[in-house]
Amino acid sequence: MKKVPEEIILYGEGVDSQLLSSIAFYLRDRLKIKVKIEELHYRENSPYLLASFRIRNPQGLRFEPHPLEVELERKGIIGNSPPKGVIYDGWAFMRFLRSILPSCSLSKLQILISSRLLSTPEEGIHHIRTILLGYPSIISVSGLVEGPAKAKEFYLSRRLFGDELIGYQLLSENSYLKYNDPRLPLVLRGYVLQAFFYQAFGEPFCFDRGCCLYNAHWQKELIYAQLESPYELCPFHQQLLERWMISAEQ
Ligand SMILES: [Zn+2]
Repeated sequence: MKKVPEEIILYGEGVDSQLLSSIAFYLRDRLKIKVKIEELHYRENSPYLLASFRIRNPQGLRFEPHPLEVELERKGIIGNSPPKGVIYDGWAFMRFLRSILPSCSLSKLQILISSRLLSTPEEGIHHIRTILLGYPSIISVSGLVEGPAKAKEFYLSRRLFGDELIGYQLLSENSYLKYNDPRLPLVLRGYVLQAFFYQAFGEPFCFDRGCCLYNAHWQKELIYAQLESPYELCPFHQQLLERWMISAEQ
């Protein structure tokens, strides 16, 4: 599924429009490509389907949703505020999105930035994800906060004291992302580029820890790759992008 997109369409769910505009502005500037922000068009049965994607255990068990859960999804759609703290089956959610997109042409790169927590299985156990690459690609803002692991001290203190607060005190303030972190818009830039590289070149990830395409498993790695590294893309990926931009101009 490789095709350099001619246009990027951004969707948001549970995120503010200012954030989407800033990402659209960045992508236009960085890739010299058309970027539009559009709304998702949910259907009558969407609340029910969304509620059915909740996973109930680490193995990804799902069952018939409770009417209250369906109601919560309905309110979430109306208020642009999906339920918090709920984990959804990421691939099922992606298939659902595909079914409500107006078009699935590969000449468009479609990206949803969502506040939902999404998980996919690895060796039978579900893990929270920061990004799901596919059609559409989905970036989870909550996943950026909760997916990559914090420093070991955090988990050790939680185990010893049963208290997350003590764990947080052991972490240095800027070593992990928080909800409403002012650095989130900058971090998201690297993740939308991952979605772009995935569709355009079939290569979303990089082994260079300083490249924004680095697949971070730890908060520390994420912060370094997206914010602290002296460059955005590594020389290899920067060159790949430049070559594409030159050929696109011709
Ligand atoms: Zn790279």
